[in-house]
Amino acid sequence: MFRQLFDPVSSTYTYLLACDRSREAVLIDPVMEQRERDLALLGELRLAPRWLLDTHVHADHVTSVSKLKQALPPGAQPTIGVGLACEADGYEYPLIDGERLVFGDEHLEVIATPGHTPGSMSFLWRDRIFTGDALLIGGCGRTDFQGGDPGQLYDAITQRLFTLPGETLVYPGHDYRGRRVSCIAEERETNPRLAGKTREEFVVLMGALNLPRPKLIDIAVPANKQAGAIIQG
Ligand code: FE
Repeated sequence: MFRQLFDPVSSTYTYLLACDRSREAVLIDPVMEQRERDLALLGELRLAPRWLLDTHVHADHVTSVSKLKQALPPGAQPTIGVGLACEADGYEYPLIDGERLVFGDEHLEVIATPGHTPGSMSFLWRDRIFTGDALLIGGCGRTDFQGGDPGQLYDAITQRLFTLPGETLVYPGHDYRGRRVSCIAEERETNPRLAGKTREEFVVLMGALNLPRPKLIDIAVPANKQAGAIIQG
């Protein structure tokens, strides 16, 4: 079972995966403002979340993982997790590279893809990978704040993601132009930030982006270090 959900304000994709037999589920990158929608969907599909995950500490929206956990019926005890190197106290479970997170008969594999932030993780499930802000469709996450490192991002994308089978589906953490999915081969061959670029060229390109500071960063980052638990309401 699989759903790709969208938050139009932050252009964030949230992913729901579940084991059909056990009804155990995983939510990846759920957004605070969408928690009623997500709770309703979990109820409608009769799913019991086993894992509530963030790909990294987000700067552009607040995570709902803590609030979702609190709102779930007694008995449902999902574990909330984020990459160890995110140094985010509010999470119970520090994710490390190479581990498998089991939900019913299914599992996903954690792949460290640092560079956008030091703790950014991607999650591989069956024929698809959830890349957070490491690899975007025709782009990649910025590396100019939150401990970002363009050289590290280049290595993660080219050595960890682009070495996956070409047909692996790429589901990003955001898209600002309505694109929903890509694949590894397409990104390897056509991503304008990466295709045919050396590490040095990529570092220069990333250093020259001059992007505006995210509007919510001063609220979102401290809140997300606490897994969103400190937000009222
Ligand atoms: Fe991000």
